[in-house]
Amino acid sequence: MLNFTVGPVMCSEEVCAVGAEQVPYFRTPEFSAVMKENEQLILRFAKAPEGSKAVFMTNSSTGSMEAVVMNCFSEKDLVLVVDGGSFGHRFVELCEIHEIPHEAIRLNPGQKLTKEALYQYDGRGFTGVLVNIDETSTGVLYDSEMIGEFCRKNHAFYVCDCVSAFLADPFDMAHCGADVMITGSQKALACPPGISIIILSPRAVDRVNCKKVKSMYFNLADALKNMERGQTPFTPAVGILRQINTRLNEIDAGGGADREVARVASQAKDFREKIKGFPFEFVSESPANGVTSVHPLHADAFEIFTELKDHYGIWICPNGGDLKSKVFRVGHIGHLCPEDNTILINALKDMQVKGKI
Ligand SMILES: *Cc1c(COP(=O)(O)O)cnc(C)c1O
Repeated sequence: MLNFTVGPVMCSEEVCAVGAEQVPYFRTPEFSAVMKENEQLILRFAKAPEGSKAVFMTNSSTGSMEAVVMNCFSEKDLVLVVDGGSFGHRFVELCEIHEIPHEAIRLNPGQKLTKEALYQYDGRGFTGVLVNIDETSTGVLYDSEMIGEFCRKNHAFYVCDCVSAFLADPFDMAHCGADVMITGSQKALACPPGISIIILSPRAVDRVNCKKVKSMYFNLADALKNMERGQTPFTPAVGILRQINTRLNEIDAGGGADREVARVASQAKDFREKIKGFPFEFVSESPANGVTSVHPLHADAFEIFTELKDHYGIWICPNGGDLKSKVFRVGHIGHLCPEDNTILINALKDMQVKGKI
């Protein structure tokens, strides 16, 4: 199998090997040490401000998005949501469910967020901003620094969903002033799904500790308290956390987060060069490194996905909803190299010869 989806992605052999081991009991100093090391590495890789904390949630990243909405906002807030695709829209729905007053900046698929569009909302009393830094549904990268500046000016609490951007696109949590960063195990972290990570700045830690949240599982103050001793309130996905430890150390040994971001960027650049010449168009105005969204001019996008899967053993990422037959995505995250891109391109060339593109 050759997997170019945006998650789960290909894992390194070392990460797979840990996954094949027996899962140990976890209320031990040994496992606490693994958790503490995971926290320290993830805070460093996200360039989190001094005094930040990380919690490791056993849920997919949508669970963490929900936990953040519940633990950081109330009916007294007014939150601005960047709604440029299915993940942005998920934040809108979460605000609706939890009755958080909000307004959405609606963007078309692939459209970037300009400063002019954002500053229409300047000085209008927004107390928080929710954004998916890479809107993975179309692979649009929003400018975390520009949005951070807006948040500073408006004294707004700044939440960055970096689920697919972390380790794929440059992100400096301290510099852009984000209060919260969310990521997950199965995107650029290139581990199996099951764990999502929330980084809280000191300001976010204070906010979470003051909030009375109506949830047992999504009580972030409880998660923070347990994390002081390298533990979680409930049984976590122990095996995945051990794989994350292997992977974070692998990245560290390879030169750290910036090197990994550069590697993903060159994987994306290589693909975007090689795909030129096909009757395809790129969808995103400001492409993120993690994924390329492609619009085939003469063929059905979902049929290309199916054909590659069934006849070549190659997985690209289909889109859902309105974009299903219009757009497919090719991921650049996970254990992939430029030679893998060539294999995909050769399969597409073969399909072209057969008149299927
Ligand atoms: C994948 C993704 C999520 C949600 O991840 P799940 O693990 O499927 O819940 C959220 N936001 C972004 C930007 C993503 O790419």
